[in-house]
Amino acid sequence: MIARLPSRLRSSVIVFCAATAIAASQQGQRGGQPSPADTVLINGHVVTVDAQFSIVEAIAIAGGKFIAVGSNAAIRPLAGPATKVIDLHGQTVIPGLADGHLHDAGGGPGVDLSRARSIADVLAAIAARVRQSRPGDVIVTNSDWHEAQLAEQRLPLRKDLDGVSPANPVVVVRGGHEYILNSAALRKWNITKETPSPSGGRITRGDDGELNGELIDRAKALVELPPPALTIEALAAQHRKLNAAGLTSIRYPGASPEQYRLLRDMARQGVLTVRVSQLLRFNVDSGPRMRELIAASGLTPDEGDEWVRIGGMKLGVDGGFEGGWMRQPYAEPYGEHGTFRGVNTMTQAPFTDVVRELNRLGWRVATHAVGDAAIDEVLTAYEAANADRSIVERRWTIEHGFVPQADQFPRMKALGLVISAQNHLYLAGPSLVKYWGAERAAWTTPMRAYLDRGFIVAAGTDSPVVPYPPLWVIYHFVTRNTISGGVLGRDQKITRREALNAATIANAYLTFEERVKGSIEVGKLADLVVLPEDILTCAEKDLERMRVTMTMVGGRAVFGER
Ligand SMILES: [Zn+2]
Repeated sequence: MIARLPSRLRSSVIVFCAATAIAASQQGQRGGQPSPADTVLINGHVVTVDAQFSIVEAIAIAGGKFIAVGSNAAIRPLAGPATKVIDLHGQTVIPGLADGHLHDAGGGPGVDLSRARSIADVLAAIAARVRQSRPGDVIVTNSDWHEAQLAEQRLPLRKDLDGVSPANPVVVVRGGHEYILNSAALRKWNITKETPSPSGGRITRGDDGELNGELIDRAKALVELPPPALTIEALAAQHRKLNAAGLTSIRYPGASPEQYRLLRDMARQGVLTVRVSQLLRFNVDSGPRMRELIAASGLTPDEGDEWVRIGGMKLGVDGGFEGGWMRQPYAEPYGEHGTFRGVNTMTQAPFTDVVRELNRLGWRVATHAVGDAAIDEVLTAYEAANADRSIVERRWTIEHGFVPQADQFPRMKALGLVISAQNHLYLAGPSLVKYWGAERAAWTTPMRAYLDRGFIVAAGTDSPVVPYPPLWVIYHFVTRNTISGGVLGRDQKITRREALNAATIANAYLTFEERVKGSIEVGKLADLVVLPEDILTCAEKDLERMRVTMTMVGGRAVFGER
């Protein structure tokens, strides 16, 4: 399939499913016999995201797939006595939305900071939990919040936390790379001024030389928190939230074999309501160790089906907002007099060793790389692997790829890499300006640059780092507007069609499934979303504001009308 790709892919991942889809679209009625439809949707504004970006009025579904797509007149006869007929009354239908990088839906049993709008709100929420706790109980927050949502636009630090919890240890979790501890927690885990920062991590100090409570990346391993409960009920509850936001497919960027097996059980029991591609993640520093853990897992590359599939191996080489590994120092004072360039969580030699081993074993690799120095490391390792055995048509990825440089694009292109990009800037805009300076912040996740160079870019959120609604991703990529920092990087705006591509068919491409889903075409899985407004023409703000009317996965309503 890939061999037939036109050299210029610009804005048209869809080009290469066109041949199959158009041929199939003639067959709504096989041999003149109308196929009985399970469901038909009529009187809609259906944005198919096929190769022509066709707009049609109606859809027929049978056996979980689209069996016909076209005008009301063409679709109506496919409804038999047992067919469910849904009158859309002019509403818009788009293909089911996907998130290429979603850890979980946020929430959880910890202190909820998602609604905090000031440091005082954060401290009040923690104080309330302290009051319900016994002496010695460890208080942990949920991770789905960011300091950019706070009026002060800064992290709460050790001294702030001591004010509300002098005795109970407090661990404030923020996103995937950062803990902040109060003094009681630092004591509990014996972290002092003398504790050395572990390789690939940081124990941060304030201006006074004292610990400010911040532990970044691998320094988080100094603290032991109980793992989140992994149950079918918990996963199903999360998936219901995702369905309500229009998600029909997600890619878990790094989880355990146990989680994969649980998802398989859910599929078997018929309780899975979102399609999952799961990357595995093992924290190892050598090829042989990786080989051992893969063998112990009993899992093979790409095993699974259209509901749950293994999608490759997740690795990471740098931190996040406060630790992305850069060629140039951070902006002051975070640059620490031009010395701080971020955190390299896995150095070149062991990383290359692991990557080459994975390639030998036939695994695809997806590496977290935020900064340009991190991208350099990824490219060096991928090129070494590619010299052993070509990776060019295997859709290896860079996850995030915040600040690619001009010299890196051709190297990425030569390896056939796919970009898994998210709307971090939407949430963290002001922080990124502080950490990296205005210029780098404006270049963060340069969608226009990626698309103009012919990259296939799959959209997502990195939830719970950024909230999961996929329409917010589309809104941000189209406007480059942010929650609290205004428009950043105006020249990186993309069109609505391009954003919709990134959230649908490009995600299907990311997981080698562009022939079975990602657009509304005959023969594809009947995953769709009904929206109250036309996503291609509504007011910009409405992209962010509108609420999903209905979500279908495999022809079954998983949110909205049943
Ligand atoms: Zn992530």
